[in-house]
Amino acid sequence: KRRDPLEQEFHQAVKEILECLVPVLARHPQYMENAILERLVEPERSLSFRVPWMDDSGTIHVNRGYRIQFNSAIGPYKGGIRFHPSVYSGIVKFLGFEQIFKNALTGLPIGGGKGGADFDPKGKSDREIMAFAQSFMTELYRHIGPDTDIPAGDIGVGAREIGYMFGQYKRIRGGHEAGVLTGKGLLYGGSLARKEATGYGLVYFVQEMLAAQGLGLEGQTVVVSGSGNVSIYAMEKAQQLGALVIACSDSGGFIHDPQGIKLDTVKRLKEQNRSRISEYLKEHPHAEYIKGSTGIWNLPCQIALPCATQNELDEEAARALVAGGVLAVGEGANMPSTLPAVNYFLQQGILFAPAKAANAGGVAVSGLEMSQNGMRLSWSFEEVDERLRLIMKNIYRSAVRAAEEYELPGNLVAGANIAGFLKVADAMLAQGVV
Ligand code: NDP
Repeated sequence: KRRDPLEQEFHQAVKEILECLVPVLARHPQYMENAILERLVEPERSLSFRVPWMDDSGTIHVNRGYRIQFNSAIGPYKGGIRFHPSVYSGIVKFLGFEQIFKNALTGLPIGGGKGGADFDPKGKSDREIMAFAQSFMTELYRHIGPDTDIPAGDIGVGAREIGYMFGQYKRIRGGHEAGVLTGKGLLYGGSLARKEATGYGLVYFVQEMLAAQGLGLEGQTVVVSGSGNVSIYAMEKAQQLGALVIACSDSGGFIHDPQGIKLDTVKRLKEQNRSRISEYLKEHPHAEYIKGSTGIWNLPCQIALPCATQNELDEEAARALVAGGVLAVGEGANMPSTLPAVNYFLQQGILFAPAKAANAGGVAVSGLEMSQNGMRLSWSFEEVDERLRLIMKNIYRSAVRAAEEYELPGNLVAGANIAGFLKVADAMLAQGVV
């Protein structure tokens, strides 16, 4: 806190992990003796840079770009790029820190990193998005590579932005190093099922958690926040498994459709037209639209999937969900629940799937995209999906096992943090003081 006094989100993410590690450190003094924690919370490298670009009227703007290369103990840095006006060092750092443990949990050899810019893609033309993405990559290219640091998408960065960044990387570097970015389009090195991976993986994880209690998704009422990449495919998989998804949102408000969200409409509005979720009512006037996104948690449901952004679900919302009969909460977004909200869910015995474990499906399939690029092969959708399902099952099992080993049965927050930490910490110990 002394070094980075204003980085509130980063402090929150570190606090959550350190609290879970108390029993581990008591049992294994070697981590304290070797200053593993001190090394873990300090990024290996942290970059910030100027991103100048020109809008359609000829006005020049300057944004700030970031890339944090947090930890490479188990593999090259890997993590998404976020374009959103709220981006600053505290956001990129918390995301990069979380990414270290998430990537370790996937079982793939990837380290943790994250990047972004305080650029707002909303309302920008295609040409403006391209100009920004090209300028961003004009600095970033010198710090990344298929064996050093492999960025991907995040909020505000989807296949279109990745395409523009990949084009610029190639233009500067020459050749066709497909493995430098993941989340690419299918025509130039992308992986089938990458687009679906985070949302599907989240639901696979929740399915495991429910199955351990003899429950399933069939017939359950589900509320999903957001209507972006993670939300859309979480809704799709939940619907495929027989759940009734009754609500989703964007930063303006949420729609409540008691007959079940019509996903074709949401995809058209959000993936194709980049319009607002309120437009849903034009096609489905029986639904209701409520301004303000946080009210979504007042809807009674059995399963809640926060898939929009950090700290979108606070203690008040957690209390409303519990009062409404929620059985399980699965975090699709990164750190969507505040610490008091998480503690409340755990106290109430709600099945709680923490982001680090539950949303790791996206980076896992990004890892599989890297493998396919390395082999110059493309696996079928079914093959990637099956690997994703297995990876999510294994993450669930390792979180359960670690929680039990440290006498916190059923606490998957502690389990995921401990399991991820042990892998990274042991790799750091093996590599000496670096
Ligand atoms: P997108 O940009 O595709 O979608 C984000 C969605 O969240 C949009 O619908 C956006 O609405 C909404 N949103 C943003 N801020 C708020 C807010 N304050 N209240 C309500 N809704 C809001 O991003 P992704 O789906 O890719 O990412 C969502 C979350 O999932 C992030 O936390 C990200 O870090 C995490 N994640 C993403 C992965 C991926 O593979 N994409 C992998 C792992 C985690 P609007 O359009 O109005 O801004």
